[in-house]
Amino acid sequence: MKAEISLKELQDMVVRCRKCPRLVDYLKDISKHKPKRYRDWNYWSKPLPSFGDPNARVLIVGLAPAAQGGNRTGRMFTGDRSGEWLFNALYQFGFANQSNSLRRDDDFKLNDGYITATIRCAPPQNKPLPEEIENCRPYFLKELDLLKNIKVIVPLGQIAFAQTLKSLKSKGFDIPSLSFGHGRIYLLSLRTQHSELRTITLITTYHPSQQNTQTGKLTRPMFHRIFRMVKKKIENKG
Ligand code: SF4
Repeated sequence: MKAEISLKELQDMVVRCRKCPRLVDYLKDISKHKPKRYRDWNYWSKPLPSFGDPNARVLIVGLAPAAQGGNRTGRMFTGDRSGEWLFNALYQFGFANQSNSLRRDDDFKLNDGYITATIRCAPPQNKPLPEEIENCRPYFLKELDLLKNIKVIVPLGQIAFAQTLKSLKSKGFDIPSLSFGHGRIYLLSLRTQHSELRTITLITTYHPSQQNTQTGKLTRPMFHRIFRMVKKKIENKG
C-alpha cells in the first residue's frame, strides 16, 4: 500500500480487494442464493468500504458485514438489525442525520463519526478466519493514520475490542492488558519512538447483534449509555 493515500483512495482499494479467496467465493454464492424477501435486490457482494465523516472524533469498529445486510445494500450496517440499533443510537446523540438507513442511496450521513470493521467481507456463519482478519488489518491501520482527529474508539463487541487492541499493538503502541465488559472506559496514551503522543479513549460495549438484543443482554438504555459516555468524552465532560 502506498504511504501517501487519501481515505477515498483507500476505500476504493478496499472495494477492489480480493485477498481472501474463501470470502470472494462466499460473496458470489450469497448473491446467487438470495432469500425470497430480497430477491429483487442487486446485491453489492464486494468488500464494504468504511464510511463517515473524515474529520470524525469517534470511530466505531464493527466485526464484519452481514450477508443479507451490508453485503446486500453496499454500506456497513445498512439494512440489518444491528444497524438499526447502531444508527438509532448515533442519531439520538447527534452523530447521524437519520435514525435508520435501509439503502445506500438514502442520504444517511454521519457527523463526527466514522464506521469501520475488523473485516470488510461477510464471512460464512459470521466467523472470519484468523488469516482473513490479518489480511484486512492493514486497511484499519491505514484508517487510523488518516483519521487524525479520532479521540474515542468504540469497538462493538468482544472480538472487535480484541482486534482493535491487536491493531494498536501492531502499530508499535504499548497497550496494557485490558479486560472486556459493557461500558468500560480506558484512556490510552499512544506513542512510539517516532510518533507524537496521541491520546485515545476506548469505550467498550456489547455488540448490538440480535443474539444480544433479543435476549436482553443488551438493552436500548444500556446501548445509549455508551453514546452518552462518548458524547461526554468528546465534550471533555467525562
Ligand atoms: S476481508 Fe478484507 S482482506 Fe479479505 S478480501 Fe475482503 S476486503 Fe480483502
